[in-house]
Amino acid sequence: MSSPNRIPVYQPDLTGNERAYVLDCMDSSWISSIGSYIERFESALAQITGVGNAISLCNGTVALHLAIHCLDIGPGDEVIVPTFTYIASVNAIAQTGATPVFVDSRESDWLIDPEKVEAAITPRTRAIMPVHLYGAICDMPQIMRIADRHGLKVVEDCAECLGSSLNGAHPGSFGDVGTFSFFGNKTITTGEGGAVIAKDDALAARLRKVKGQGQSLTRRYWHEELGFNYRMTNIEAAIGMAQAERLPQILERKRAIAARYRELASDLPVSFQRPDEGVVSSEWLVSVLIPEHTDREKLMAGMAADGVETRPVFYCAHEMPMYDQGPRPDLEVAGTISRRGISLPSFPALTAEDQDRVIASLSKALGR
Ligand SMILES: *Cc1c(COP(=O)(O)O)cnc(C)c1O
Repeated sequence: MSSPNRIPVYQPDLTGNERAYVLDCMDSSWISSIGSYIERFESALAQITGVGNAISLCNGTVALHLAIHCLDIGPGDEVIVPTFTYIASVNAIAQTGATPVFVDSRESDWLIDPEKVEAAITPRTRAIMPVHLYGAICDMPQIMRIADRHGLKVVEDCAECLGSSLNGAHPGSFGDVGTFSFFGNKTITTGEGGAVIAKDDALAARLRKVKGQGQSLTRRYWHEELGFNYRMTNIEAAIGMAQAERLPQILERKRAIAARYRELASDLPVSFQRPDEGVVSSEWLVSVLIPEHTDREKLMAGMAADGVETRPVFYCAHEMPMYDQGPRPDLEVAGTISRRGISLPSFPALTAEDQDRVIASLSKALGR
């Protein structure tokens, strides 16, 4: 850990207008949740995603909670979610009082398996939450067909896929609501931050109202329904606006990094995520599966000793104490991915030499 030139898994690129825009907030005293950067950032998101309505929020977890809440899902309802996901996807369901129902992943792209979604539907199922992990996109055509056939809502967790596309369409544009996170390690960041997008204007208006204490959008201090304070600050939006301006360059760098990793690791016994045809990945965090019986902890410690930080992929949610209801052999594809996966340094400023070091270290740790 004390090795010089330690390569982290992530660090945000704040080399654009971030500083200038934050200072503008300070100088103008618009530091709270009203201000021009909020509107500009929301317009930028609407434009990037091609979905007319984008609403800024204080993080990606509340984005999911707000979405499920505003689809009137709660106690007694079930929401289908992949067990292999970041815990926020599952917690947001539980926070509404609804029950998360876990589904396995596909071997190819590590994402929720639509074939297994249909089998998990019960009379209490109200929604499906596809999670687009690491920049790849779930099989949305098939998921939307299933949702339509069974009258289910769809909330897409797009926290890791800003800038990805499936047949030219941005994720979050398929289902009822798409949610985003702008945490420090996401494709673009606002420090902490999030957003929802929704095609339906009435749903978008409800999301906007409920995010602001349920206050009427036209009558001050008149609260029409239960609401939350999920607002983003103008300072956060200022950082986000500067980031959004450089999204194309950030994506270009991340895609080049991912392509180079694949090339450099082509002789190693590791496998990469294989997105569906038609998917252009944002390559959020390049991750690989190491061979089945390799000691992952030891491998990661070996790489850390070389100054290369790595991170395990997510543990399966159904194994966490609050969701664990015993053995689930039907979730074994997800289990395997979760035990074998590690994420590699993947930030925009990563150099070719850094990448060479990462792969040399990985190769050594694999005993090559
Ligand atoms: C980051 C992330 C979230 C949560 O976002 P926060 O902004 O950290 O609350 C939700 N889902 C996935 C898949 C994520 O990667």
